[in-house]
Amino acid sequence: MFILFLIFISIFFIPIIQCNDINQDVNNGEIINLDPNKYGFIWPIPGYTKISSPYGKRQAPTGGASSFHYGCDIPAPQGTKLIAIHDGEITFTNFLGAGGFTITLSFDNYKVTYCHVDSNFIVSVGDIVKQGQVIGYVGPKNVYNVPWNPYKDSNGNPTNGATTGCHLHIGFRVDDKYQDPMTFF
Ligand SMILES: [Zn+2]
Repeated sequence: MFILFLIFISIFFIPIIQCNDINQDVNNGEIINLDPNKYGFIWPIPGYTKISSPYGKRQAPTGGASSFHYGCDIPAPQGTKLIAIHDGEITFTNFLGAGGFTITLSFDNYKVTYCHVDSNFIVSVGDIVKQGQVIGYVGPKNVYNVPWNPYKDSNGNPTNGATTGCHLHIGFRVDDKYQDPMTFF
């Protein structure tokens, strides 16, 4: 009898619990729940935290890369999910010079850029996105579909902006001034 009761419970109530999990589907985008930090932000690239190149002065690592680094680099494999660090609006999705394929997320007085992303954008300019929503993926090192792209690797193949390998470059502008992203994490 108790077994029958358990079967009854599992058939009728478990689907209801799943349907109530509203965070699974916001704007048809996948939501990854992580707790916001004291600035109200969540980490942009779950599972990857190593910084290969911090914000600030550096030896330019590849032709065309700036000797002042206006962001920080987080290596991760192609296809790694990138998530919105905060609720906001997508204000740019295109190829942006040294940044390669880039997504900009804007909110309040912040503009957050995700660079070297996959060119198959899953968000568009004007989209309102939720914190934790997957907005893109780490792109490949090489891209072949941008005629005006001046960046090339040592083999002469065009690269996804000024990059030597798959990574997220994240940039923070506050009131249109670049800041060290790690100030906010
Ligand atoms: Zn970078």
